[in-house]
Amino acid sequence: MKSKIRKSWAEPYKIKMVELLQMTTATHRKKVMQEAGFNTFLLKSADVYIDLLTYSGTSAMSDRQWAGMMLGDEAYAGSRNFYHLEEVVQNCYGYKYLVPTHQGRGAENILSKILIKKGDIIPGNMYFTTTRLHQELAGGKFEDIIIDEAHDPENEFPFKGNVDLNKLEKLIKKHGAHKIPYVSMATSVNMAGGQPISMENLRALRALTKKHGIRVIHDMTRVAENAHFIQQREKGYHNKPIAAIVKEINSYTDGATMSAKKDALVNIGGFLAVNDWDVFEEARNMVVVYEGLHTYGGLAGRDMEAMAIGIKESLNDDHIHARVGQVIYLGEKMMSYGVPIVKPIGGHGIFVDAKKFLPHIPQHQFPAQTLAAEVYLDSGVRTMERGVVSAGRKANGENYFPKLELVRFTIPRRVYTQAHMDVIAESTARVFERRNKIKGLKMIYEPKYLRFFQAKFQPL
Ligand SMILES: *Cc1c(COP(=O)(O)O)cnc(C)c1O
Repeated sequence: MKSKIRKSWAEPYKIKMVELLQMTTATHRKKVMQEAGFNTFLLKSADVYIDLLTYSGTSAMSDRQWAGMMLGDEAYAGSRNFYHLEEVVQNCYGYKYLVPTHQGRGAENILSKILIKKGDIIPGNMYFTTTRLHQELAGGKFEDIIIDEAHDPENEFPFKGNVDLNKLEKLIKKHGAHKIPYVSMATSVNMAGGQPISMENLRALRALTKKHGIRVIHDMTRVAENAHFIQQREKGYHNKPIAAIVKEINSYTDGATMSAKKDALVNIGGFLAVNDWDVFEEARNMVVVYEGLHTYGGLAGRDMEAMAIGIKESLNDDHIHARVGQVIYLGEKMMSYGVPIVKPIGGHGIFVDAKKFLPHIPQHQFPAQTLAAEVYLDSGVRTMERGVVSAGRKANGENYFPKLELVRFTIPRRVYTQAHMDVIAESTARVFERRNKIKGLKMIYEPKYLRFFQAKFQPL
């Protein structure tokens, strides 16, 4: 007889050391939120109880990674940790040439400068803040070619990260393939709520781009989480290990930028990896200008060692099931309270739909920014806005008004417990209960670039 009792995922590790957290009072939170201009980025970490601002660089490293830190070979050139990392990138990810960088955007800078000419078009499956900015600074123009389903938070399509090949073909027809240096393809699409791209779609993307001689550059920051969803949802992949799925994904692309602060379980690090010798040659020259010598790229030897070990751990099936399992646990708990979230639940966090949560606040009064502030005021849980503030302004100065106006609750890897997930869901539900009383915000300070990091607001 098949048992009806749920078979829980659980952490494939136990806790060896703990970090004590600061508990705060409502009065204190009110004071510091005002000082921070209602921007959760401007809060001090010491005033935060559960920090979901980002899952970037916030992973708990394993005992093996910490042991690896002690094996740091801090030679200026040719550190043995570089060669270890190179071997892991080649074996686990399948890319030929490696240029380490201090983090993902370092790789984006170098790649954009090498491949993009003024007036070029860079199609991609939804923008990412730093990625698009580097493309624009290099003289290119980003064009969104993600499927329409991705812009609808209610749509339960299992692969909302897919590329709409018709949109890509139209761009090729309109501008010519020579104007498109590469397709910027992300796995577990961040701005869509961590939504995966399917292997079938990737294969079709490869076929189309090959026909036109266009490269595919992979933003592989969360490739392991994407592989998990392919394993769970796509025909033919159920019995394939995550490691094999990741390698197949990469095989349909020509190179990648990586922020190792995400999937790869380290606090700092990234890389550019390419299969093309010419691009590698140029990148190896350029990295010296912006990051450091090509065998360390702004990292210490110990950082590269921790990254090499973290990459291997990130591809373990039990690890990724527990990782995504925890995120899904939180999402289902929020839904049980009626909190509107992006569906299906993505791999790295819960994205609350602020337009639905606060329908009485118009987008120019920053509903997602408001909601993030309210959740902090309630419980000391720190989240962040992914909506009109993050989207920034167009070259002509107008605001982008994105369809998605979200608050992201991103979950650091191997850091928080199930009881923490309960606290987060309950706090969000309490804010939901009193949503009608909540008013929007007015922006009183706006930085020129990536304004969401430092903008300041005032309650209306
Ligand atoms: C984080 C991230 C980046 C940038 O990486 P950093 O390490 O923060 O510089 C690029 N693309 C995606 C999809 C990301 O999530």
